[in-house]
Amino acid sequence: MTAKFCMECGQLMAMKDIGGTDRLACTSCTFVHWGNYSIGVGALVVRDGKVLLVRRAIEPGKGNWTNPGGYIEQHEPIEETIVREVYEESGVRAKVKEIVALRDQPRDVHNVYIAFSMEYLEGEPEPDGFESDGAGFFSPEEMKQMKVATFTEWLVDIALNRHGSGLRADKEPIASFNGFGFSNSVSN
Ligand SMILES: [Zn+2]
Repeated sequence: MTAKFCMECGQLMAMKDIGGTDRLACTSCTFVHWGNYSIGVGALVVRDGKVLLVRRAIEPGKGNWTNPGGYIEQHEPIEETIVREVYEESGVRAKVKEIVALRDQPRDVHNVYIAFSMEYLEGEPEPDGFESDGAGFFSPEEMKQMKVATFTEWLVDIALNRHGSGLRADKEPIASFNGFGFSNSVSN
């Protein structure tokens, strides 16, 4: 994915040396396209040794049980995003305790997913009926009988047992990051 025209002023974008690295930049103003990123957040709300899960009602992963979460918004503090996502998807009020895990996926869109352990405050789990069609607190034993997403299993283990470093290794690393891949796809 490349930006042919500047998002700020509409002029042509071109490869430019920015601090020693070729980057796509505006030929007219100071706008630089640093890359394509998205940041996901996930919540691990624990109550009595059980973790809050929701069943996804939409793709991707429809039918899978996952921990609640979403994507951060441009102007919303991350700890407010995760509180909001938990409430929207499950009706549970929870507050951030700490960051417990980070998954890094440098793909065409570089995704960073940050998982928070959260303190349960109030509310009985209830699905929103749109993004989720099931919600509840479940023990690891109960989860064995459920279709739990692999990534969620990993996070639940960290939340309950503190296994591992909390940093997820990328299983499909991209070897070369020459100009973040722009140099091959920019047509002049
Ligand atoms: Zn511009």
